[in-house]
Amino acid sequence: MSKTTYRRLQYELRTIEQEGLFKRERLITSPQAGEIRVSRNGREQSIVNLCANNYLGLANHPEIIAAAKAAMDEYGYGMASVRFICGTLDLHRKLERRIAEYLEMDDAILFAAAFDANGGVFEPLLTAEDAIVSDSLNHASIIDGIRLCKAKRYRFENNNMTHLEAQLEQAAAESPRTIVIATDGVFSMDGTIANIPQLRQLAYRFDALLLVDDCHATGVLGPQGKGTAAHFGLQADIITGTLGKSLGGAAGGFVAAAQPVVDMLRQRSRPYLFSNALPPMLAAGALKAIELSRAGDNLRLALRQNAQRFRKGLQQAGYRLLEGEHPIIPVMLDEARLAQELANRLYERGIYVTGFFYPVVPRGQARIRVQISAALTFEQLDKAIAAFAQAGRELGLIP
Ligand SMILES: *Cc1c(COP(=O)(O)O)cnc(C)c1O
Repeated sequence: MSKTTYRRLQYELRTIEQEGLFKRERLITSPQAGEIRVSRNGREQSIVNLCANNYLGLANHPEIIAAAKAAMDEYGYGMASVRFICGTLDLHRKLERRIAEYLEMDDAILFAAAFDANGGVFEPLLTAEDAIVSDSLNHASIIDGIRLCKAKRYRFENNNMTHLEAQLEQAAAESPRTIVIATDGVFSMDGTIANIPQLRQLAYRFDALLLVDDCHATGVLGPQGKGTAAHFGLQADIITGTLGKSLGGAAGGFVAAAQPVVDMLRQRSRPYLFSNALPPMLAAGALKAIELSRAGDNLRLALRQNAQRFRKGLQQAGYRLLEGEHPIIPVMLDEARLAQELANRLYERGIYVTGFFYPVVPRGQARIRVQISAALTFEQLDKAIAAFAQAGRELGLIP
């Protein structure tokens, strides 16, 4: 029995490899930064990093490290408990209050990851009497969270407000108690920003709650980096987010919302109830990261300037990019093999990017998703642009 299972898995793995869809992980031997060290054939080399979610460059910030170290000295290493048994520190509540204040919500609740926040946000709030209308390109964790809940599901084409309206009409026809519209603030594979003004308007019209997963937007978009809705001068009803990207890049997730929503999640959300409390050092690091993010207009300016420089360089080299203003810059290559091959050749030239292909993006839409960071210098960006141009010409991708 186990033998045939292992054989089947080996066969499937070989198929993945033959299709050029096999993901290999590279070994990093330094902190996350604009330039990192990697280990290759037993040798260490320095490489420009264009694939971290380190938008504000805080992943290796000395003040965050100092705050985390101080918290370890004061609170120890771990809590060895879930929050409701004996795992809630004053530090956790301080962070939850701070997140709520930052995002202008009543309260917030921490999770081990945004994956857990999205996995645990729907089921406690909604039952079979309710409805969720979800964007087709939403993050895997939202899709899983919706699967775990009994509400009726409706899906609308990515950022297509006409289709959303039609789906809302269908949902409303069944007279659900509650309708939730769920969207990513920024779609991670395309860098597109959700149409919050229209989402907000439709939410009001259908008396729905608007849930925005702002993992790629907190710290990046809006005044003080308050996120996608704030970018448009608006507000969502529920924001889910991560401490693993702009806000220091360690780990942790949260839901920020109105008081009854947060209170109910604290009572009923399974990833919250049945998983360990966030380590104190991460809570302290995140508190510092929020402070730096709020005051980080200079970082957001550097981020924007870096992204503009890189976009212009690649367009001039002849690459096809998806349009946008977010520091996610998708370089479209269509075929998985080309995305892999270009990533390999860039790696040889000291540029670290990752190819994305099915099942992460639809078949035939393989790409290299470049992510710009405020930590990158113009010199590093120009080196990357030159490497893209050379490697692209070698592969016949550009003239
Ligand atoms: C990264 C990401 C997540 C998961 O965040 P973690 O904290 O790493 O679990 C969820 N949703 C979106 C849109 C993301 O980009």
